[in-house]
Amino acid sequence: MTVADKTVLITGASSGIGEATARLLAQRGAKVVLGARRKDRLDKIVDDIVQAGGQAASMALDVTDRQANEDFVAFAKKQFGGVDVVFLNAGLMPNSPLSALHVDEWDRTIDVNLKGALYGIAAALPEFIGQRHGQFIATSSVAGLKAYPGGAVYGATKWGLRDLMEVLRMESAQEGTHIRTSTIYPAAIRTELLDTITDKQTLADMNKTYDSYQIDPERVAQVVAFAIDQPEDTNVSEFTVGPTIQP
Ligand code: NDP
Repeated sequence: MTVADKTVLITGASSGIGEATARLLAQRGAKVVLGARRKDRLDKIVDDIVQAGGQAASMALDVTDRQANEDFVAFAKKQFGGVDVVFLNAGLMPNSPLSALHVDEWDRTIDVNLKGALYGIAAALPEFIGQRHGQFIATSSVAGLKAYPGGAVYGATKWGLRDLMEVLRMESAQEGTHIRTSTIYPAAIRTELLDTITDKQTLADMNKTYDSYQIDPERVAQVVAFAIDQPEDTNVSEFTVGPTIQP
């Protein structure tokens, strides 16, 4: 089975990496199911895909709501008859120094980036176990590989995703359910992510960095497509993708 044979659920599909991935996978024949909170944005992307001859559907989804994740999987099954891949991509990055004590933002980051991914796993895992195949792909970050000031909580959620993906694959191998998992580590990608930063100094610093090098989200989408396209006995565990000139 290649991308063209698969139904792929994408969280955080209303902009950036999720949107680019939905568009690319649909171009390659996948049935894509888009989830995020901004339904108007999702509808526009679905319209574009369908007009271009692709297959897509969308549902308003807040990944911090466990039931909504279950509904998202049920919606995909109803639309397209099954679920083959879940791209756990929704995220935010309200970076700030720990000493600024933006504790509400710490909570929110953990709720969306980490608990949101866990709820996505909980919603789709029973399907994958039942059908004895399936794939989770998580958008981590280079912040999940390398610590940097201002990125403590964001980085902690992104480090955590790698562990979730790797342990899930190992457990599934032991249990004979053949679930594939991938962790993608993007570096600076041109999206709306910096809009989630409220700390003025951190935002100024991050803007400076991003202005000096960033690449388009389609490059990450290519990596997601590559991971899906491998034969079922082949797991792309990790992939780092970013601007060539980023230190
Ligand atoms: P965007 O801000 O463009 O996209 C973030 C997406 O997450 C949006 O679709 C947003 O949709 C969605 N989202 C946020 N909160 C929720 C929620 N509670 N429920 C459902 N969806 C939610 O940025 P990116 O495309 O860059 O971000 C995608 C992923 O890539 C994130 O996990 C990010 O951490 C990661 N990443 C990005 C990098 C970059 O440089 N851009 C680098 C490394 C990793 P909506 O607001 O409509 O709900």
